[in-house]
Amino acid sequence: MQALTDIKSLYPQELEAFVTDSGFPRFRAAQIGGWLQKGVNSFDEMRNLPADLKAHLKTSCYISVATIEKKQVSRYDKTVKYLFSFPDGECVESVLMRYHHGYSICISTQVGCKMGCTFCATGKSGYARDLTASEMLAQIEAAQRDEGIRISNVVLMGMGEPLDNFDNVVRFLRLAGSEQGLNLGMRHITLSTCGIVPKIDALAKLKLQINLAVSLHAPNDAIRARTMPVARAYPMEELLRACRDYFDATGRRVTFEYALIHDVNDTDAHAHELGQRLKPLHCHVNLIPVNAVEGTGYHKSKVQRQQSFANILAGYGVTATVRRTLGSDIDASCGQLRRKTLKEGGK
Ligand code: SAH
Ligand code: SF4
Repeated sequence: MQALTDIKSLYPQELEAFVTDSGFPRFRAAQIGGWLQKGVNSFDEMRNLPADLKAHLKTSCYISVATIEKKQVSRYDKTVKYLFSFPDGECVESVLMRYHHGYSICISTQVGCKMGCTFCATGKSGYARDLTASEMLAQIEAAQRDEGIRISNVVLMGMGEPLDNFDNVVRFLRLAGSEQGLNLGMRHITLSTCGIVPKIDALAKLKLQINLAVSLHAPNDAIRARTMPVARAYPMEELLRACRDYFDATGRRVTFEYALIHDVNDTDAHAHELGQRLKPLHCHVNLIPVNAVEGTGYHKSKVQRQQSFANILAGYGVTATVRRTLGSDIDASCGQLRRKTLKEGGK
């Protein structure tokens, strides 16, 4: 039997080709696209399609859906954490955050991750598979439907390394950013990567206008390699070069993520070394007190340390903010909920 077509991952012109190749008039593609944009979950809901086209779609295509397996709402800030499942039983996490300027969602790009960062819950539970573009869209649509809201910002900072699933992620970005898709606007999308240099270069070439966030977490290769195995393949010098090129190609300032880990990467000397290296770049640093994941042995830096680290960076003209942690009562750091559920013997 031929594999079913993942209809929500198709670009409008591919949908058109699919419809006309199946012997139906071209305008039907726009109708189907309109229903998919509305977020319908079945072909029966596409009311203006003739019965023979609906029957054809049902036997040859499927519509990706993300089903809510678990939902946790933070008592402090109304941050919502979802555990979504897909029809094959695999689960991913998404986190919905409410800011004064609107709703933002952090979505997953893979089930698990191959990169093995030692502080990360996702990295610890291994890799199962890549997500398709439609499965990334489905997380956004499921959260919007569940809360009755419209999401304005998306960050690819959930489970998985987006640049290790490059083609599906680029497809997602184009679909989410386009008027026929979620119509988010590329500038409202942020992709976070652990630093796969050739893929950052490839992304820069596409000139997509999305925001790039790079997980740095160390001022030099020796410390970085202790927590992030990817540092052994792509040294920091090359990574910073790729970030400079990304800025030159897109005009978008790069953000560096830096999880402050007590006694690992948070001393004054580390801050000076980082300030020196980042000074020539157009960038911003997000300092995040590390989320102490069970079994890692890492602890958050003291509040005073966090502030002192930011002040030292400011001395080099590098702007840094200590990010407030949302949803601290609901395992809001991605990977924690799935890991816990796996351990409990759930999905
Ligand atoms: N794979 C991508 C995106 C997903 S991880 C990446 O690594 O950038 C999203 C962010 O959460 C990354 O900046 C990652 O380094 C960070 N992160 C992972 N575990 C964390 C923890 N325990 N505490 C704080 N930040 C963490
Ligand atoms: Fe993967 Fe990112 Fe976690 Fe590293 S921090 S293991 S790259 S999800």
